[in-house]
Amino acid sequence: MPVKVAVNGYGTIGKRVADAIRRQKDMVLVGVSKTQPSFEAAEAVRKGYPLYLAGKGKPEEFAAAHLPLAGTAEEMIRSADIVVDAAPDKIGRDNLALYNRVGIPAIFQGGEKADVAEVSFSALSNFAECQGKKRVRVVSCNTTGLARAASVLLPRFGVEWWDATLIRRGADPPESHRGPINGILPTFLLPSHHGPDVRTIYPDLKINTTALVVPTTLMHVHVNHVRLTHPPGETKEVLDALRSTPRFHVFAAWEHVEGTPQVIEYARDRGSNRHDVMENVLWENGVRLDGADLYFFQAIHQESVVVPENIDAVRAMLGLAPDPQTSIRLTDEALGIAPP
Ligand code: NAD
Repeated sequence: MPVKVAVNGYGTIGKRVADAIRRQKDMVLVGVSKTQPSFEAAEAVRKGYPLYLAGKGKPEEFAAAHLPLAGTAEEMIRSADIVVDAAPDKIGRDNLALYNRVGIPAIFQGGEKADVAEVSFSALSNFAECQGKKRVRVVSCNTTGLARAASVLLPRFGVEWWDATLIRRGADPPESHRGPINGILPTFLLPSHHGPDVRTIYPDLKINTTALVVPTTLMHVHVNHVRLTHPPGETKEVLDALRSTPRFHVFAAWEHVEGTPQVIEYARDRGSNRHDVMENVLWENGVRLDGADLYFFQAIHQESVVVPENIDAVRAMLGLAPDPQTSIRLTDEALGIAPP
């Protein structure tokens, strides 16, 4: 019997997670919820997703927009085995009381503080730790990207320390109300919150991050400098490790991918839904080992990188896969993410 999954909050992350659930053989989507009618709500109805009323939404607004509601978010959640909360930052914590009342396992997103859940999750890092848990937080897009890279480097080469600068996209493509329009905004929290967030998964990792926000909507880019404790002899060994790990895509020099615009164009050409790129993206020419010092760039598609992790979190929590490899393979096959 497939498990019944509800998606509470149908925005950038929620709509992608809902689509991803629909593609898994061992899961069924019982519904999605929204606070207001919108083109996204209409699209959910068109796709046949039962639409429920979230938060303080007004049913009469949906009636006026001729969007049929299947009930309230609470009713949706009561009919499910697990809920993925994809409400805006900090609202997930407010929704926790509802999940506690209903007694349903819940997955939260990276916009919530770590203590909203028992465990922070990244599939390549700590799948086993999340098995059977009732409250799991899938870490943010940037933290997912860093944790995945840590899952490659730590077991093979060790990390003495890691210094990363995050060049963060200013907004998601539809967020016309956000800036900056023309500028680079340093994040005056030094170091930034991302390093501590990675340590919710790797408590002993000496990672520090700083961040800047730039006027782009396509992707984030991380500039990494890692001191390895057991460095390999040459850069190629690091590239081989990355290339042999699921959810990494390394562009070769001959592909002429100069930066994030070509990454997105590549995603369009390969037919990715919404030009999503769920892998960590690296460039062969953008990885260099100098003694024990590893330098690498990686690009992270903020809108979609956490989607496969949400699917794996469902499997870990409900015992649908014995190990991370099985879950990752099932998820990636269903989502069309190429195996290594
Ligand atoms: P969003 O604003 O695009 O979508 C949020 C949705 O939740 C909207 O549809 C809204 O109607 C709905 N909502 C509002 N109040 C609600 C409530 N009380 N209960 C249920 N739903 C409610 O937000 P998003 O970008 O999808 O972010 C969702 C979460 O994912 C946040 O924690 C965020 O930090 C995290 N996240 C976002 C990104 C990104 O780049 N957008 C990347 C990784 C993680």
